[in-house]
Amino acid sequence: MDSKTDVLIVGGGVIGVCSAYFLAQQGAQVTLIEKDEIASGCSYGNGGLIVPSHAVPLASPGALGAGLRWLFDSESPFYVKPRMDAELIRWLASFVWASREGQMLKSLPVLRDLLFASRALYEELAKTVGFDFGFEGKGSLLVCLTKQALEKERRETRLFEEFKIPVSMVNRDEALELEPALLPSVVGGVYYPRDGRIDPQRFVVGLAEKAQGLGAQLHTKTEAIGFESNSGRVTKVHTTRGEFTAGQIILASGSWSPQVARALRARIPIQPAKGYSVTVENPPVTPRLPLLFSEARVVINPLGHALRIAGTLELAGLDFSFNPRRVAAMQTASSEYLPGLAEAKVIEIWRGLRPCTPDGLPIVSRAKKLENVIVAAGHAMLGMSLGPITGKLVSQLARGESTQLDLIPLSAERF
Ligand SMILES: Cc1cc2nc3c(=O)[nH]c(=O)nc-3n(C[C@H](O)[C@H](O)[C@H](O)COP(=O)(O)OP(=O)(O)OC[C@H]3O[C@@H](n4cnc5c(N)ncnc54)[C@H](O)[C@@H]3O)c2cc1C
Repeated sequence: MDSKTDVLIVGGGVIGVCSAYFLAQQGAQVTLIEKDEIASGCSYGNGGLIVPSHAVPLASPGALGAGLRWLFDSESPFYVKPRMDAELIRWLASFVWASREGQMLKSLPVLRDLLFASRALYEELAKTVGFDFGFEGKGSLLVCLTKQALEKERRETRLFEEFKIPVSMVNRDEALELEPALLPSVVGGVYYPRDGRIDPQRFVVGLAEKAQGLGAQLHTKTEAIGFESNSGRVTKVHTTRGEFTAGQIILASGSWSPQVARALRARIPIQPAKGYSVTVENPPVTPRLPLLFSEARVVINPLGHALRIAGTLELAGLDFSFNPRRVAAMQTASSEYLPGLAEAKVIEIWRGLRPCTPDGLPIVSRAKKLENVIVAAGHAMLGMSLGPITGKLVSQLARGESTQLDLIPLSAERF
C-alpha cells in the first residue's frame, strides 16, 4: 500500500486526534496513524482534569527543592529512578536550569494563555461537537488535611493572583459546603473556579470519530518505523502497514516522540514520567467537583458510576513496569479525604507515560532541520487540558496561517 495525503499525523492520543479534527474541519486531507488503538497511550486512563489553574510549570523552584528527596525515596509521589542515561542527565540539567525563578516566571504566562485558550475551546466543543464527553466546568477544589499544607498552598496562590489566575482560599466550612462528600477532618483548601473535568477516553475516541466524519483517514495498528528525506523534507513514511507520502508530517507521538524523531535524525528532549490511576466502581459518596488532594498528591475525577484516583510521577524511561505499592498508597491516602475509598471495588488499574520536556512547556513547532515536519509533543501533566489549543495551533501552523498564540516559546529550537 502507498497512500498519499496532505497531512500525516503520527500518534492517536489527544494531541494527534485534536490536530486531526481541526485540520479536517478546515478541509485538509488528513491521515492519522496509530501504532496501537486511538487513545491507548497516555490519553486513556489519566485524571481527565482540565486545569487552567496549573499554569506553574513542573520546572519551578518548588520542584527543585523536592528534587533531592525524589532521588532517594522510591515510594514518594515524585521519583527519579537513578540510572546512567546521557539523555536523562542532559534533561535533568536543563530541568534544573528551567526551574530557576526567573525562567519559571517567563514560562508561567505562556502556559496560562495556552490553558485558558484550551479551556475556552472545550466549552465550545461541548456545545458544538455533537457528543457528550462529560465536560463540566464548575471548578475544582484542592483540599488540605494539615495546616502546613494549607499554608504552602496559600503561598502559591499569591503567584496566581499576580498572574490573574482566578483562585480563592477556602476554610474548612467553605470546603465542606463546596464539596459535601469530603470527610470533616479536612482543614480547608483552594477553589479554582475555572477548572473542569472530562472523561478523557470518551473525548479522544469521540473526537477521532468526528474527525473521521469530516474525512480524516484513521489507521490503527499502524506504526511509523522509518522515514525517507531529501533536501530537508520528509518524502516518505514507512509503516508496519505500507508507505505514506505526505505534504506535511505531524509528530504527536507523546513519550515515544524522541524514538520516532531519532528515525528522522532529530533530537526531542522528552522524558517519560510514569503515573498511575485506579478507577473504583460505585464509591459510597460521589463528589460533585473534581478534587486535588494536597498531601496525597493525587487528583480525583468523578466519572458518574465510577471514580478515578490519579497521581505519582516517576522518571524511569519508557518503562511500563507496575508497582502495586504505589497504587495501594494512592488509594489509601485518598481515603483520608473521602469516605470508603480504601474498600471500594477497583475496576481498573492503569499506568501511562507523560511526555515531559525539561522546561515544562510543550513543543508545538516546525522541526529543526525538516521543513515539512511539525512536532506537537511534550505536554507532560497537562496534555488533556492543552489538547484542543494544541490541535488548533497545529492546524494553523500546517495551513500557513498566523497562529492564535505566539509559538516562539514553544519552539523546538529552544533546546
Ligand atoms: C496518571 C496521569 C494523570 C494525568 N492526569 C491529567 C489530567 O488530569 N489533566 C491533564 O491535562 N493531563 C493529565 N495527564 C497528562 C496527559 O494524559 C498527557 O499529557 C496526554 O495524554 C499526552 O497526550 P499525547 O497525545 O501527547 O500522548 P499519548 O496519549 O501517549 O499519544 C501518543 C500516541 O502515539 C502513538 N505512537 C507512538 N509511537 C508511534 C509510532 N511510531 N507510530 C504510530 N503511533 C505511535 C502511541 O501509541 C500513543 O497512542 C495525566 C497523565 C497521567 C499519566
